[in-house]
Amino acid sequence: MYIIIGGGVVGLHVAIALAAKPGHPEIFVLEKEKFLGDHTSGRNSEVIHAGFAYPVGSNKAKWCVEGNALTYEWCDLLKVPHKKCGKWLVAFNEAEVPALEGTLKNGAVCGVPDMRPATTAELKTKEPEINDFAGVIFAKTSGMMDVASYIRALERYFAAQENCHIIYPCGVNGIDAQKNIIETNRGPMEYSLLVNCGGLWADAVYKMACGQKDFRIKPFKGEYMIWRKGKINEVIYPVPRRFLPGGDKDKRLVSSMGIHLHRGVGGDLYVGPTQVELDWDQKNDYTIVTPPEIFAKEANQYIQGVREEDLQPAYAGNRPKLYIDGQPYGDFLIAVEKNQIHALGTDSPGLTASPAIGKEVSRIVSSGL
Ligand SMILES: Cc1cc2nc3c(=O)[nH]c(=O)nc-3n(C[C@H](O)[C@H](O)[C@H](O)COP(=O)(O)OP(=O)(O)OC[C@H]3O[C@@H](n4cnc5c(N)ncnc54)[C@H](O)[C@@H]3O)c2cc1C
Repeated sequence: MYIIIGGGVVGLHVAIALAAKPGHPEIFVLEKEKFLGDHTSGRNSEVIHAGFAYPVGSNKAKWCVEGNALTYEWCDLLKVPHKKCGKWLVAFNEAEVPALEGTLKNGAVCGVPDMRPATTAELKTKEPEINDFAGVIFAKTSGMMDVASYIRALERYFAAQENCHIIYPCGVNGIDAQKNIIETNRGPMEYSLLVNCGGLWADAVYKMACGQKDFRIKPFKGEYMIWRKGKINEVIYPVPRRFLPGGDKDKRLVSSMGIHLHRGVGGDLYVGPTQVELDWDQKNDYTIVTPPEIFAKEANQYIQGVREEDLQPAYAGNRPKLYIDGQPYGDFLIAVEKNQIHALGTDSPGLTASPAIGKEVSRIVSSGL
C-alpha cells in the first residue's frame, strides 16, 4: 500500500502520478485538517509562474518550467478557472535595470519560452494610469488560477481512480520505519511506500520516520491586502529580489518576488505578499501584522494615489523554507530513504511545480527505491 502524507497540491499531484502507473497498489492520501488547502496550497498568489526567477540548474527552475506547461494542461482537463494573461516585470529606477536584464537572461538559460523586453508605453496601452518605469519585461506564459477549484478538482480526479482513497481529517502521529506501520488518529496502517508531502510539517514527518539528517522547515509569512477600488487588471511584479545587488547571496530570497499587484480569476485585486520570517514553531500563525501604510507605499511604486484606507486585510500564507544544518537551502529537495520519499522545502513556486514534482516522485518509484 502507498501512503502519501499531506493533501496539498504536492501530495495530490504525487498521488495522481502514482495512480497513473498500471497495476499500482492501493493508494491513500492522508490529511490532518478538516479540508484540503487549509495551509500553503490554499494561501498563495495563485500565479502560474513561468520559471525565470530561479537559479539555473535548480530543481525550482526545472520543475517550474515543466510544471508551467503541465499546470495549464491540468487546468484545461479539469476545467479549472484560469487565465494565461502573462506577467509584466518592472524596474522602478535605473539602478534596477541591470537586475531586470539579468532576469531576462536567466529566463532564457532556464528555457522559459516567450519572455521578451517591453516598454512602459506598451504597458500603458493596457494600464494607462500606471507610473513610468525605467525598464519593463513581459513573460507570456505566466498566468493566474483559482486555486480552491484546482485543489477540489485534483481531489475529485484522484478519488475517481481505481484503488485510490483520500481521508481527512486523518493526522499521522507516529511512524515505525522498521515495521512499515504508521499511527494515525484513526488507527494504524501498513505501507510499502511512504511519501511525505507534509509542507510546513515535512520536517516533523521526516523525524517521525526516523530521518537522521538535520532538515528543518522555517515558516516565512506572506500577507496580502485587497485593493477594492483599484483599477489594475494586469499582473505586475517588481524585479525578483535575488537579482538585486547582493540578493543572490541570501538563499532565503530565492523565491522572493517582492510585493506585486495581481487580480485573481475571482476578480479581486491583491497587493502582496510580504516576506516575514517567523519562528520555527509559528507554522500556524496567519495573522496580518504588516501595517496598511507599508502596502500602500509599495503599491504607489506602480501607480500613484493608493491610500492605506483603500486597502483591506485579506489573508496570509506561510512559505515552508528548508534549512539544512541550520542554513537556508533555497531549493526543493526530494530525499529518498529506504521505502520513503520526502518532499522538502516546497515553498514557491510549488503550486506551479507540483505536477512536475509528482512526475519526479513517480520516476523515482519506477526506477526502484
Ligand atoms: C505567500 C505565498 C505565496 C505563494 N505564491 C505562489 C504562486 O503564486 N505560485 C506558485 O507556484 N507557488 C506559490 N506559493 C507556493 C505554493 O503555495 C506552495 O509551494 C505549495 O502550495 C506547497 O504545497 P504542499 O502540498 O507542499 O503544502 P501544503 O499545502 O501545506 O500541504 C501539506 C499538507 O500536509 C498536511 N500534513 C502535515 N503534516 C501532516 C501529518 N502529520 N498528517 C497528515 N497531514 C499532514 C498539512 O495539514 C497540509 O495540508 C506561495 C506560497 C506562499 C506562502
